[in-house]
Amino acid sequence: MKTFDAAIVGLGAAGCHAARALTALGLRAVALDAGPELAPSDLPERVPTTSLWRKVLSRRQPVQARSVSFHPALAHLYVDDRRNPYRTRGGSTFLWIRGRQVGGRLHTWARMALRLSDADFTRALRDGHGTPWPIRHADLAPYYDLVESLHGLSAARDGVPQVPDGHVTVERRLLEPALLFKQRVEARWPERRVIPARVLEQPRDPLPVPLRHALATGRLELLRNAAVARVLLDDGGSRAVGVEYVDATTGCTERVSVGLVVLCASTIETVRILWNSRHARHPHGLGNADDQLGRHVMDHGFVVAAGSTGPDYRALASGWSPRHANPLDLAADLDFYIPDFTASLDAPGFVRGFGVQGKLTPTQWGMALFGEMLPHRDNRVTLARRRDSFGIPIANVCVRRRANDLAMIRAQKHTLHELAACADLRIEMPLPAPLRALLWRAVGPEVGVLHLGLSIHETGGARMGDDPAHSVVDPHNRLWDVPNVLVTDGACFPSTGCQNPTLTIMAVTERACSLAVSAAPTRQTGTAVGRSH
Ligand SMILES: Cc1cc2nc3c(=O)[nH]c(=O)nc-3n(C[C@H](O)[C@H](O)[C@H](O)COP(=O)(O)OP(=O)(O)OC[C@H]3O[C@@H](n4cnc5c(N)ncnc54)[C@H](O)[C@@H]3O)c2cc1C
Repeated sequence: MKTFDAAIVGLGAAGCHAARALTALGLRAVALDAGPELAPSDLPERVPTTSLWRKVLSRRQPVQARSVSFHPALAHLYVDDRRNPYRTRGGSTFLWIRGRQVGGRLHTWARMALRLSDADFTRALRDGHGTPWPIRHADLAPYYDLVESLHGLSAARDGVPQVPDGHVTVERRLLEPALLFKQRVEARWPERRVIPARVLEQPRDPLPVPLRHALATGRLELLRNAAVARVLLDDGGSRAVGVEYVDATTGCTERVSVGLVVLCASTIETVRILWNSRHARHPHGLGNADDQLGRHVMDHGFVVAAGSTGPDYRALASGWSPRHANPLDLAADLDFYIPDFTASLDAPGFVRGFGVQGKLTPTQWGMALFGEMLPHRDNRVTLARRRDSFGIPIANVCVRRRANDLAMIRAQKHTLHELAACADLRIEMPLPAPLRALLWRAVGPEVGVLHLGLSIHETGGARMGDDPAHSVVDPHNRLWDVPNVLVTDGACFPSTGCQNPTLTIMAVTERACSLAVSAAPTRQTGTAVGRSH
């Protein structure tokens, strides 16, 4: 069995940063990803226009095809739902959108990168829902800076407290149609700020930038097509000693021996691996001594609309050139952002808030409103009896919107109509009304509102905290029960804010890996890294 200082499980947004951080700090690491490494030809620049019918009729990907971003020409960047099943229970309609390849969903994401603020980290202290984060913006700021400068952040310095400014590498400004929108919205609601979208730069490359840095150290071994089934513990169950995986090309079960395990397989998958890592000392799953594992799973309340613009926008058409030419780059849909302003609403009827992001050209517009979902104890991921094609038990997702989430969605819809009316934007959904309502049933409970999962911002399930009785990992992202196992992907979020989560996932990962190495008394191959409790 091969031996390494550390194993990184999953090489998406979190895992690529874990690989970078650990190898930069001198560790010899192995990174295991369930999928293959892509070729440049897997990331085409141009494809034909999407046919709605081709999406709807996608037979091998009936879940993935329901994502608004799914394109038949990019179907290989989304999982084959038949080979990667999961189950929903308890009235849940959770559509789990995922990719299994080195780089994970970094090959499909829209790159909107917003920091969380101290108000987000501490909301539970004010409204009593869930638990506060055990860290604050000051703890993460150096790691946010590092991530933003490594990728490059295209943004402005807005000075908006709801979304602290990032480390800007490319100045971004609102284009003319968005400036007109800003004037109208801010004149009507002075507390609403329309700011340029904040976007991480990313070359179209099979190997994301942080992973390239890790490989350049010569200290990273990459195991492709390696689906991790479980974390292996020593006899006493107090220390991880390796991971077990299925080699997807041979079907054989293999093991590597390591001193540190960093779980970065994405929120639901990481929770699944923890459940499947049962041991005599952890009979109910790893990290589940206090019945916390898999609980408090969240997504965002997701409301969308699009349409055509009024005459003042169309007057800006001459000389107009769009920001991006590549229609596959979802960042092309990001012009502006309105941070959460709901604190100023009169009697909103819900707690927490939502933000608005959108695209505006002289002739067309589109907006997506992401609302913070509360961390409900019974919104839980567990394991089902059924197994996937690798013989690993599948995830059982029981997550649904509760009263506060539904009240916020009503407010999101109302706000969208208010914004459109004030800014002279016409809401025009494609297709005639009866057909539209029929087709929309595949993606949401009502026209304009999308099912859980489709915001693709799932978080929670192994939350961070100060108190082992109410959390799965400590403030350094170490499992309370087995501190040489880190959980650094979205599973560790105690609450989710209304900002897109990936920038925070990256920063949390950099911080946790850095602390794991600096907190280690000595670094020895195959020996636990991290303090014991
Ligand atoms: C179309 C789209 C648009 C998005 N836009 C944005 C946006 O603008 N802003 C934002 O913040 N977020 C956005 N997201 C969400 C963002 O992509 C995710 O939050 C982010 O990728 C999560 O990072 P992760 O590392 O946890 O998971 P992933 O990036 O999904 O990576 C998980 C990795 O683990 C691997 N893996 C899975 N299971 C196993 C296993 N058992 N063993 C080994 N490896 C495994 C997978 O192959 C994958 O490489 C978007 C997502 C999509 C799909």
